[in-house]
Formats: sequence, C-alpha cells, structure tokens
Amino acid sequence: MISAVKASLEPIREKVTAGERLTAAEAESLWDESIDLHELGELANLVRERKNGNAGYYNINTHLNPTNVCVYRCIFCAFRADLREDRGYWMNDEQILERGREAVEAGSTEMHIVGGLHHQKGYDWYLNIIRILHDAYPTLHLKAWTPVEINWFCHLTKRSKLDILTELKEAGLGSLPGGGAEIFHPEVRDKICEHKADTKEWFEVHRIAHSIGLRSNATMLYGHIENAYHRTDHLIRLRDLQDETGGFQTFIPLAFHPDNTKLAHIPKPSAAMSLRTMAISRIVLDNFPHMKAYWIMLGIGTAQAALAYGADDIDGTVRHELIYHDAGAETPEVLSVEEIQRLIREAGRDPIERDTLYHRVERDGATWRAAEAVAAT
Ligand code: SF4
Repeated sequence: MISAVKASLEPIREKVTAGERLTAAEAESLWDESIDLHELGELANLVRERKNGNAGYYNINTHLNPTNVCVYRCIFCAFRADLREDRGYWMNDEQILERGREAVEAGSTEMHIVGGLHHQKGYDWYLNIIRILHDAYPTLHLKAWTPVEINWFCHLTKRSKLDILTELKEAGLGSLPGGGAEIFHPEVRDKICEHKADTKEWFEVHRIAHSIGLRSNATMLYGHIENAYHRTDHLIRLRDLQDETGGFQTFIPLAFHPDNTKLAHIPKPSAAMSLRTMAISRIVLDNFPHMKAYWIMLGIGTAQAALAYGADDIDGTVRHELIYHDAGAETPEVLSVEEIQRLIREAGRDPIERDTLYHRVERDGATWRAAEAVAAT
C-alpha cells in the first residue's frame, strides 16, 4: 500500500544538507515522480561526495556460478535449471580450480561465488569449493554464498547458522555477497520467491556473519511487482541492521531483467527509474559507506550516469557472469581495466582500484597488494 504523503523536496533537502536522517514517510515521498529527478540526483550527489569525494571505485573480479540446478523456482529467475534439463550443469573440482587459476592470472582480487541449490549436492560440496580455491589461491578473496545458500546448508545439515558460517570462514570464506534480498516485504516476497529463505532468515545470516567479523553487501531487486512502499520498507530494514552491526559495505540496487522469466510481460525498468532508485538509496542509507552501480544490469551508460546520482562504485571487470545474461542483459561479459577506467573518467570521477574490503590496490600487472583502507564513512 502506498501512503498518501505529499511530495516536496524542500524539507528533505534541508535535512539531508544538515546531515539529518530521513523518516520512512519522507523516504517514501521521494519516489513520487513529481519530484524532479535531477534535483534528487544533486542531493544524492551531495551525500556521495561527502562520503567518497570524487572516487569512482572498481575492482578486478571474476564470477563463479558452480551450478545452475536449483530446487527453487523464483519467478524472476532465468538462471535456474531443473535437475534433468539439458542446460543444467554443475562444475567439478578441476573446472573450479581452472577458474581460480584463470582469475589469478588475470590479476583478479576477488571471486564472486553464487549459484543454485542443487538437489543432489550436499553441504560438503559447497564447503569444498571454498576450501580448494582458498588452498590453491590464498590471495583471491572469496565473496561467496548468499543467505539463501547458507540457510539451505543449515537445512541440509541441521546445524546452526553460526556453526556453518564459522566453518566456511575457517575454510577461506572472505565475505558475503548481497544477493537473495530481492524485496523483503512479504506482500512481494511471498509472490516472487515464496520458498527460499525469508526476510527474517536473510537478516539473521548477515547479523551472525557481521558478529564473527565477516563483512557483507546488500541488494534490492526493483522494477517488477513491488511499489514505492515496498522499496522504502526494504531500505529502512537495511538501515536498521546497519545501525546495529555496521557490517555492510555496499548497497547494490539491481534492475530487474524480465527476459526468460515468468515475469517476461513486465517491461524493464527505465534508466530514469534506475537513477531515481540509486539516488533515493544513497539518501536513505545514510550509514552505508558505498553504493554500487552494477554495470552488468544497468547497462554501461546508466552506470556511468549513476556515478552522479549517488553511486561511488561501478563493480568490476566481471568475467563469466551468467545470471543476468540468462535474463537478457545485453552488456558485454567482461570489461578490460582500461575500459572501466575510461568509463569512470568520462563520468568525471577518479578511477581507484579497490579490493573487496575497500583497500586501495597497488598493482604491477597481475601482482598486487592491498594498501590503506579508503576513507569512506
Ligand atoms: S534466484 Fe536463486 S534460489 Fe531462486 S530459483 Fe534462481 S537460483 Fe534458485
């Protein structure tokens, strides 16, 4: 349900300029299309520059989706496959290690690992992926498994989240990605992904991860059946947990891609909607250090523009992305470092390579070292 809050940017501009926090009702009012998008962008840019100056962060990363076979059937997902479907796959140790070798030789600092919940793979298969990659390539940061997967491991093993996360961390897990969040409000979540980890589980996994020293990201999938009220609720829930733990690094709004999904009749969110979402997220999530414009989903042009609408990070070179390309993303499958630096410079920002935990990277070809932490608050 959308509240009847009348849109006006002026009182909000005063609060944001003074560094004060918005209420949920004020945040919700920003979605009204009568609020000028460019004025909203200016306000988000103020917050962005206070936190991150003129930096345009990127990293050199690679993706690994070890299987697309999944017991669930989220209606927005074009990636999953049934167990006996021809396009279903899972990777063996050799293939996984080959991905690690390729990543390290390309100078990657990070591997982003997520995938399906395979009917016939036990928790040990997922744990082993972390262990063999970390043992073979200890400098590669493994950002792996969303709360959906962690919750599945708990279900399979009957063990606690703390136990599972602690074991994964000991095996080499470096941090958690932000996926599986979709939209937290049950009016939407129950319709688009009714079976997988619910909102309470999602937050519990992040809370426990933060408590044992793992940092994490958060996402929001927008542009499908949700409305302004649901998006606002989503942001406020994240802001609340960040107040409690301080463990989130980056928020990543994800534009819905309808192709090959059960929601294929819904048009893709426009560039204007994506910029508005980025700007509102930056203004409302006043305790998140970073906002990422994920170029794979936004498209390169919108991601560049987003660097003036609140975003300070454009993600990475991204090798082997499958999930959004299966859903019709037309972006390239990889960008070179030179291309990504040029995109950031064209947007008027200073390209800075960072590692997963936001240290500046000093690099000599494929060899690199983490220098000081960047100063975002
Ligand atoms: S979104 Fe994840 S959990 Fe849902 S069907 Fe796709 S792969 Fe499975």
